[in-house]
Amino acid sequence: MFVCVVCALASPMNAVSESLLGFDAEQETAQRGLEANFDEQLSADDLRAWMQHLSAQPHHVGSAYGKQNAEYLQGLFRSWGYETEIERYDILLPVPEQLELTLLEPRRFGATLEERTLEEDASTGRRDDLLPPYNAYSVDGDVTAELVFVNYGTPEDYELLARYGVSVEGKIVIVKYGRTFRGIKPKVAAEHGAIGTIIYSDPTDDGYARGDVYPKGGFKNDSGVQRGSVMDITRYAGDPLTPFEPSKKGVERLSRDEADVLAPIPTLPISYADALPLLESLEGPVAPAAWRGALPITYHIGPGPAKVRLTLKFDWRTVPAYNVIARMKGSKYPDEWILRGNHHDAWNHGARDPISGLITVLAEAKAIGQLAKQGHRPGRTLVFAAWDAEEQGLIGSSEWVEDHREQLDKHGVVYINTDLNGRGFLYLGGSPTLEVLYNGIMADVIDPETGLSVADRQRARMQVTGNDKVRKEATRKNLRLRPLGSGSDFTPFLQHLGVASANSGFGGEGGGGSYHTLYDTYEHYTRFHDPEFAYGVTLAKVNGRALLRFANADVLPFEFNAFAADMKKAVEELEKFADDMRAETVRVNGLLEDGRFTASLDPTRALQPPEAKVAVPHFNFAPLQNALGGLDGAAAAFETARGEGSPAGSTLRSLNKLLYTSERLLTREHGLPGRPWYRHHIYAPGFYTGYGAKTFPGVREAIEQRRFHEVDEQIVIVADILEVFAARLVEATQLLSPSTATQ
Ligand SMILES: [Zn+2]
Repeated sequence: MFVCVVCALASPMNAVSESLLGFDAEQETAQRGLEANFDEQLSADDLRAWMQHLSAQPHHVGSAYGKQNAEYLQGLFRSWGYETEIERYDILLPVPEQLELTLLEPRRFGATLEERTLEEDASTGRRDDLLPPYNAYSVDGDVTAELVFVNYGTPEDYELLARYGVSVEGKIVIVKYGRTFRGIKPKVAAEHGAIGTIIYSDPTDDGYARGDVYPKGGFKNDSGVQRGSVMDITRYAGDPLTPFEPSKKGVERLSRDEADVLAPIPTLPISYADALPLLESLEGPVAPAAWRGALPITYHIGPGPAKVRLTLKFDWRTVPAYNVIARMKGSKYPDEWILRGNHHDAWNHGARDPISGLITVLAEAKAIGQLAKQGHRPGRTLVFAAWDAEEQGLIGSSEWVEDHREQLDKHGVVYINTDLNGRGFLYLGGSPTLEVLYNGIMADVIDPETGLSVADRQRARMQVTGNDKVRKEATRKNLRLRPLGSGSDFTPFLQHLGVASANSGFGGEGGGGSYHTLYDTYEHYTRFHDPEFAYGVTLAKVNGRALLRFANADVLPFEFNAFAADMKKAVEELEKFADDMRAETVRVNGLLEDGRFTASLDPTRALQPPEAKVAVPHFNFAPLQNALGGLDGAAAAFETARGEGSPAGSTLRSLNKLLYTSERLLTREHGLPGRPWYRHHIYAPGFYTGYGAKTFPGVREAIEQRRFHEVDEQIVIVADILEVFAARLVEATQLLSPSTATQ
């Protein structure tokens, strides 16, 4: 009774289509017809009109236009046949009252802190409700001190700084945007004793060193400033005052002093025009080659003689955040929810961030609404969401997840996120169980510039521009999904709750300089990012297919061989990382001990050898290796059994529940060491990277941060998790095919 006769006849060697996991041959034909129909509903003109409307005015959380946008979005969803609601949370939002930065010595200069209005871009003149450039969740403060240049402000940068004999204790640091999430920069600066942080965009990263600047080209001009939150989202995301709880009436709130996610020292972003006089006034050692940017100066580290005063005062308001939620109840499996979201709030006009992503969600929702009217209602329930307050710290989505945690735990199958879009190549991150699904989609969807499949274009680029490792990956049967760190609304779903998630967007062509500046406008977007909205339509085809395949496949299209292979690779990388770190420590300590390190340096310069480091012990990876063996076998058995057909009725529902709740098994109630809100033990944002993912974060960060005594214990935790996951696959295999599982 568990063998599918139709698919066995159609293709005895491969009973279930590889490209359309979860569908038999007959269902595949119907599904492909549905997807072609879906594509026909997509219209670039719709995308353009929605972007024009939604990005006409600045629309940050708490703004009048932000509220209007939420209502406009609700109206659209409703007109397409969705049940809609706006869910409100009241969140902390600091709004600047005073922002001042003055160079006091060796000469006086007041930073302008202003972005120019451009004749060529009418939107830049519409700035009634525009927040000035600032870093949200910096503390208030009035500090005066000498300046020190600290490169990107990573822990490694401070190690190098120490070798120059420079301390930032009691100083204000000036740091480049880039490499890490901006909230990491004041955190690390404060850990080293700094009392203020100035963050600037060096032209080497997204200004004239990269290409022509706006309005001639897409890169950042000398007055552009990247706004952004400096909340420490590596501890928790969401409203800073209500971790774990939705920020609704009656919920107990922390005081601001209790919220350890606020940037601990005053922090302000500036343009490179404002940064130049400050950097120019620094003396002390010449900055190492890797630290130098593209300004026309010799970069010095300091401290001083440049001395600055930084004065920041905020109005700490509580403002309403409006999440727009739209549902279409599934015709076959209404209790299984497929979730799709993008934020709607912006720092400014936000044509690219987030409207270019949001309009693809709208396109998918409209098309699926039309399919439903034609009688093709999705089998599972679809939940579309337009989140508010993402920019401040993934707040709208995190509050909603905390609010609906029990329901999501029960019903949440998958969460598909986007944030921003552009031309070029598909950036795709996600749970490894989605690798096969998305590879099937990337093979089916055509890139509008080349006529190749999205997958072939991606492989070509990897082969042309990648290093050996990337070139090897390009020849893999399936391209791997990047591990998810943080920086967008998938974080609460994946890392707090354990709902399998994906995040995608096209990019890589066109300038990136408008991000979070006044210049992120419709005018900029349609000149440099996606003038014809061809990639908007393409991204809707990608994620629309993911939604429709998830909505309609009888057995959910999670695939576990890819998960097992990914875990194997991650363990190999982890062991190699520990081995390399051990060997490097021995090598450098050897050079230090016999004086060779000192002998290699210029005795007339400030740069000193590093301190010797504690040797890296050997760790016991055996529990992980053993768990991998079991996982590999369990995944292979499950996928073999899936190929032989699927059950029906209540067995099918039980099977699917085992599959979609499997991601929850990768979480633990107590969370990661020191950050209990992050419950996923396979992926987390790095504590010192922010956006970048750490695989097996408990183990990896214990090694990286040289807390060696924690490592073996963390290995056991992850090994246990993988064993439980493997047992789940055995259980699922029994439901698919009792004889296979008991062999
Ligand atoms: Zn965004």
